[in-house]
Amino acid sequence: MKLPSLNMQILLGVVLGVGIGLGLATLGKASPVTQNTLYISGLVGTLFVDLLKMVLIPLVFASIAVGVANLRAHKQIHRVWVVTLGFFVLSMSIAIVLGLSAANIFEPGRGMQLSMFADATSAFQAKQLPVSDFFAQLLHNIFKNPLAALAQGDVLAVVVFSLILGIALVIGGERYKNILHLLQELLEITLMIVGWIMRLAPFGIMALLIKLAATQDAALLTTLAQFVAVVIGTTLIHGVIALPLILYLTTGVTPWRFWLGAREALITAFATSSSSATLPVTLRCVEQHLHVRRDIAGFVVPLGATCNMDGTALYEAAAALFVANLAGIDLSFGQQLVVFFTAMLGAIGAPGIPSAGMVTMIVVLQSVGLPVEAIAILLPIDRLLDTFRTAVNVEDDMIASMVVQKLTDA
Ligand code: ASP
Repeated sequence: MKLPSLNMQILLGVVLGVGIGLGLATLGKASPVTQNTLYISGLVGTLFVDLLKMVLIPLVFASIAVGVANLRAHKQIHRVWVVTLGFFVLSMSIAIVLGLSAANIFEPGRGMQLSMFADATSAFQAKQLPVSDFFAQLLHNIFKNPLAALAQGDVLAVVVFSLILGIALVIGGERYKNILHLLQELLEITLMIVGWIMRLAPFGIMALLIKLAATQDAALLTTLAQFVAVVIGTTLIHGVIALPLILYLTTGVTPWRFWLGAREALITAFATSSSSATLPVTLRCVEQHLHVRRDIAGFVVPLGATCNMDGTALYEAAAALFVANLAGIDLSFGQQLVVFFTAMLGAIGAPGIPSAGMVTMIVVLQSVGLPVEAIAILLPIDRLLDTFRTAVNVEDDMIASMVVQKLTDA
């Protein structure tokens, strides 16, 4: 019997996962069926994410070093850098403006009773982290002993070291061709292992979605429904209209063609809520389905997975205004400008792991004097919101690589 294609299997996993999860939610937490199924989905989901994380560090390391080294053959190496960073900043700016506009128009949280969250709020111990400290910490985490960074799975430090190694390989040229060759083989063999892990994807994704759908707190969701709707709606506008439009205008690739090539990565991002864990799948989609060359993809995509997060930027901006509304504070235009910059900083600084954006959001809140404790209100709904924003974060990296390839191939 011939199995359906991997894409079909993944889509089936999504449908079954959400369906079974909602079914379990109606059965209730106490039912043994729910408990056993949640236990098994916990195991399978974690196994899938762990396998992806297993290949993450070798993949980031090899792909960036090789990506940068291969750029030397590219006639427009400087242009690649400039267009990549320019695209990251531009797309995050559009996302933040969308988030701020939606929050200004719909004013979620205005007039809401904060007291109902009093318990949650007082139970939350916010870590005090002023913007200046955040910045110092970010800088401090950039340069590390590469062996320690590799061993500890510190993605940001690995990204930076691989960038430097790549540049050294470019400058050293012929002299270090063996090291480059070795890294190229490391990259290829890691991608081969990613292909094996992807066979598990339909089950892993189904398991993650069962857990997500079964453990959502419906009561809280209805209370915060307006905010949830504004964030998800705006994130979708950015992901379904703004980004595909930019892609179409710059490369001529239609949204449908993009979706066909990108769906494995988008669905994995949605289910794992982690750009980093999804990175192996993202690279595979970009190179194999969307035909971005390895030199561009290997550079833009891993860099984007840690620094380019439209969904997170949009969320942090919208959430800051939501918290301001809850606290009955009106943020002036100037203060919203501060939110704009800190949201971008927060998105750049957030690692690609679940709920990372919640942590860096403390910086945004503090920058305009909003109560940091309000994060306690946002935490319980973050599992749901994180799915959409991570999918957009990953979509944005894929689109960035396609746009960069187009604009630098002259
Ligand atoms: N989960 C997001 C990601 O991995 C980061 C965030 O929490 O916003 O892209």
